[in-house]
Amino acid sequence: MTTDHGHPAARMYIAGQWCQGATGNTAPVVDPATEEVIGDVPLAAPADLDRALAAAAEGFAAWRATPVTERTRVLHRAADLIAERAPDIGRVMTREQGKPLHESTGEARRTADTLRWHADDARRAYGRIIPSDPGTVLTVRREPIGPVAAFVPWNFPVGGPNRKISSALSAGCSLVIKASEETPATATELVRCYADAGLPAGVLNLVFGEPAEVSAHLISSPVTRLVAFTGSVPVGKLLAARAGQVMKPALMELGGHAPVIVCADADPVTAARSAARAKWANAGQVCTSPSRFLVHESIVDAFTDEFVRAAEAVVVGPGLAEGTTMGPLANERRLAAMERLTADAVSRGAKVRTGGERPDRPGYFFPPTVLTDVPGDAALLSEEPFGPLAPVLPFHGLDEALATANALPYGLAAYGFTGSAATAERLSDELQAGILSLNHCGGSVHEAPSGGVKDSGYGREGGPEALDAYLVTKRVSHLLAP
Ligand code: NAD
Repeated sequence: MTTDHGHPAARMYIAGQWCQGATGNTAPVVDPATEEVIGDVPLAAPADLDRALAAAAEGFAAWRATPVTERTRVLHRAADLIAERAPDIGRVMTREQGKPLHESTGEARRTADTLRWHADDARRAYGRIIPSDPGTVLTVRREPIGPVAAFVPWNFPVGGPNRKISSALSAGCSLVIKASEETPATATELVRCYADAGLPAGVLNLVFGEPAEVSAHLISSPVTRLVAFTGSVPVGKLLAARAGQVMKPALMELGGHAPVIVCADADPVTAARSAARAKWANAGQVCTSPSRFLVHESIVDAFTDEFVRAAEAVVVGPGLAEGTTMGPLANERRLAAMERLTADAVSRGAKVRTGGERPDRPGYFFPPTVLTDVPGDAALLSEEPFGPLAPVLPFHGLDEALATANALPYGLAAYGFTGSAATAERLSDELQAGILSLNHCGGSVHEAPSGGVKDSGYGREGGPEALDAYLVTKRVSHLLAP
């Protein structure tokens, strides 16, 4: 079913049924490239959430009893459908979120691979047998924790939900997931792949709604056994506190403010090109996006010149237009934040080397923006920009760079460029981050864990560690002949 704007309709998916919710309340969905309403999103009432929770409880009982080989088969079928439908899912994603079509379809294809990886990994969720007294079998078993309440944002409309769905379902859990109200048809199309693959009713439930109401309802329900959230630090703290009040574990994938340290012995041009590619991806709306560029004073000019060149080569436009390499920001809030952070830095003496002003056209566009001479008290240096702003700061010695990098309460991603193995080891040892990339600014991969330290959260997604949050460890001591 499509809307009048040729956009697929967003639906909730509860107990194996597509639905619009008990009240019929909706909110508009806006194309960030045109600011036009392209559809609407159904909003759950408490009765809808209760149905989803009841379905998840039943779904969990059925899914955990399903042989792991069958679970894996269903998940592989879903992965095949995601890969097959990637071009269509990509178009829906670009209209709702703005990123260029090649990024959207690439995200959908990677999502299919991620699902396959987790589905296969869960087959090896081994326990262990511990040597014990004769006549006693002492084992450690890992079992699915139970129904999960998951909350995901709008920046990776398929990859984000799928990280939680794929790990939870692989582990044998069921979910009620609240995807973003800003990218609801994309989440609908993702969940449709699971439904069409034969996932039993109730195992995966998709809802939308007023975020604070939905999260309060789902977290406090006795059905929910794990809270999994991706989003901002303030909201993460709120949800973690709420989960703590009802003694539920939480997986928190929060924001960061990733430093890039470019040492004197690095090639400034290579570093600038690599950092630029990562910086402008998804218009900087990535939790691991490099966002503070600390460059040794001896190479800072060469780095900045190349970085500005790369910024000016970016083709900003609608994500569906041929040749676009950076789309609009996903919503008006991000655009307002770019204007506010830039104005604040400039008012304190920063220089805009390129970009800095939104173009005179509809859509939430903001150009790649490189700032120098940014004083330490500029908000941009402590507040995650989550957009295409890049402050370049010279440093004198590595101690100073590390101190600056580690000064913020965040600790998600960090990057370093150096020709020295010893310096690389020092960066590995001393940078306070859960994800460190050396001599490149590559993105997350499903075979390795991602997650933060400090205010950036706890728990890991990706890699074998991804299952940890979704499994509980049970010790069983079995006396054979009592
Ligand atoms: P926000 O803090 O309003 O919302 C972030 C996400 O949390 C959204 O998906 C929102 O729907 C959800 N949310 C908000 N209140 C909630 C609640 N009480 N219960 C459950 N979910 C709730 O911010 P925003 O304007 O959407 O995004 C801006 C900031 O969010 C960025 O600056 C960035 O720090 C952060 N963010 C981080 C990620 C990430 O991948 N870690 C993704 C998107 C946004």
